[in-house]
Amino acid sequence: MARPAQRIIDLSAIKHNYQIALQNSENNRAIAVVKANAYGHGAVAVAKALADLAPMYAVASSEEALQLRDAGIKQPILLLEGCFSLDEYHLAAQHGFQPVIHQHQQLEQLCSMAGLRPLPVWLKVDTGMHRLGVQPEDVERYLLQLEQCPLVKVIHMMTHFSCADEVDNPFTQQQLERFNKIVRQQDISADNVSAANSAAVLAWPQTRIGWTRPGIMLYGLTPFERSHRVADNLRPAMTFVSQVTALRKVKKGDTVGYGNHWQAPRDSLVATVAAGYGDGYPRHAPSGTPVLINGQSGALAGRVSMDMLCVDVTDLSSVGIGDRAELWGSQLAVNEVARWAGTIGYELVTRMPDRARLCWHQ
Ligand SMILES: *Cc1c(COP(=O)(O)O)cnc(C)c1O
Repeated sequence: MARPAQRIIDLSAIKHNYQIALQNSENNRAIAVVKANAYGHGAVAVAKALADLAPMYAVASSEEALQLRDAGIKQPILLLEGCFSLDEYHLAAQHGFQPVIHQHQQLEQLCSMAGLRPLPVWLKVDTGMHRLGVQPEDVERYLLQLEQCPLVKVIHMMTHFSCADEVDNPFTQQQLERFNKIVRQQDISADNVSAANSAAVLAWPQTRIGWTRPGIMLYGLTPFERSHRVADNLRPAMTFVSQVTALRKVKKGDTVGYGNHWQAPRDSLVATVAAGYGDGYPRHAPSGTPVLINGQSGALAGRVSMDMLCVDVTDLSSVGIGDRAELWGSQLAVNEVARWAGTIGYELVTRMPDRARLCWHQ
């Protein structure tokens, strides 16, 4: 028998969510973002599931891109941070990766290469996030230089929003206007631009120009703080499950777990579940965080251990050893657990270790 803690991945949910992204993109131009092992869902399995639908993928590094090529993925792959060293341009040219250019060192390295198959490249413009990208006033100079580069086939232009998940924040509109102005001034084809991440795809229709770049929504997580109509049709793709492996009665006043942190407010029934921070459950989740046992909501009791956690199941009917525990997934939103733990769903799904086995179904 294998350890019962596993990530069950519903690939049909990912296809469904990608279709929603396609419906909200121009001319089916939605780049499926599968960086960080497809946000913990398994990059190769996800890319294969989308292979008949997605015209292009995006990842964070050439290692991630190579993994997809080795698995037989044929589509172009966007390198969202570009190349980190000179030799990666060889890889890019050889394998059809499309690098972002966001600073002068990348520009110089790219332009020092010759004798390779020319590539589409993406000039990243900083319209206000101030993390990556060239300043608007430098765009023209970069473009002039890119046009002279033997390795450059087509120039695309992209930007990234810092607040698109805040649906009332006017900053997204300001960033978009800055971007649109540059695109018009530089005469870049409307097909060769990209701005929208998931939140923008869902909540900011005017940002869906050129290519969209949906990530988190593909996995069924809403990018918004609160429930939002436009994200309600997404289907959660990952269910993090395990089993009840022990069950005990504790007396009022007894404590549970490391540090004796949880004290039973009454005579209680406590279930031990084989999932802990070593499986990717957040150690900072406090007592009270919901855990579903047989689909009923129990409450985390005491500190999360490496391999186990305890759940107050006093009010649940008929709990037994071997029962299914859902830590998050189709019935308990990962974002809800993230809120309890003081983080976001993005972090919980992307930092899961291999120990929480991935099991995919179509
Ligand atoms: C990760 C990433 C995305 C996808 O963002 P989501 O919020 O997950 O949709 C899009 N663009 C860039 C540049 C990214 O780094």
